[in-house]
Amino acid sequence: MNFILFLQKNLLMRIIEIDQASGFCFGVVNAIQNAEKELENSSELYCLGDIVHNSREVNRLKNKGLQTITHSDLQAIHRKKVLLRAHGEPPSTYELADRNDITIIDATCPVVLQLQRKIRKIYQSSDREQSQIVIFGKIGHAEVNGLVGQTEGKALVIEKKTDLDQLNFTKTIYLFSQTTMSVNDFKEIVQEIQSRIRKGVEFHYFDTICRQVANRIPNIKKFAAEHDLVLFVAGKKSSNGKVLLEECKKANANTHLISGTEDIYPEWLQGVDSVGICGATSTPKWLMEDVKLSLSRYA
Ligand code: SF4
Repeated sequence: MNFILFLQKNLLMRIIEIDQASGFCFGVVNAIQNAEKELENSSELYCLGDIVHNSREVNRLKNKGLQTITHSDLQAIHRKKVLLRAHGEPPSTYELADRNDITIIDATCPVVLQLQRKIRKIYQSSDREQSQIVIFGKIGHAEVNGLVGQTEGKALVIEKKTDLDQLNFTKTIYLFSQTTMSVNDFKEIVQEIQSRIRKGVEFHYFDTICRQVANRIPNIKKFAAEHDLVLFVAGKKSSNGKVLLEECKKANANTHLISGTEDIYPEWLQGVDSVGICGATSTPKWLMEDVKLSLSRYA
């Protein structure tokens, strides 16, 4: 225990600590910087989907002029600037933008871009009749849609082991993962396919999970275990938020998901000496600071 924590304990003050490893990953930082840079010179910029799975940050940027649009909105606009967020997009989005004379500001995360290229390369070089491209990820998630788009919509998406029944185990399988899935869950999927694939049939798998999330797990577990109460700050749509929240809950059952200060119940703080505040790769630091400030008002 460091000196300040020691003093706080002994002066019977509640310790409130923010996990310094939580907060935006470089992919999200890059997308937000792109948006802010563009908005310095223009009052109008569109973003295809929420720039980050955090409504507070979306609102902060909305106040600067960033307007979130959907794919159907994109069909109707012409000659505008549209930012593509870190999740990436399928080729059809670029084609539509081209037709509508839309200027794309491409903030696709380099990690996602590399994965898209890898899937496209394998799809284009493989025997399509005799092989299957499988993506372990969330059906309908923006990143997954972008990945499936590299295969002209042919890739199969599986979310859990029971979804593997859709696969043909007598044909070659190429397995990839959405970047924010759990490494352990991916390993289980690999083992299941290995146990079911017909002898002699090829199975290639690529652990394409981003270590920006996976590498945070040991730290966040340790952080959660060190506190009496853990407040995990994240938007409900955040995939990596779900993974990291589960890890916190495993380390400390007294963990609560909150999207902001209004979700805090004062009774959670009764008898609690230390509170840990942490979050996902889509959680802004300023929001965790807000939570800390709000907690310091409770006795
Ligand atoms: S989690 Fe990884 S892949 Fe996803 S945006 Fe962040 S850095 Fe990129």
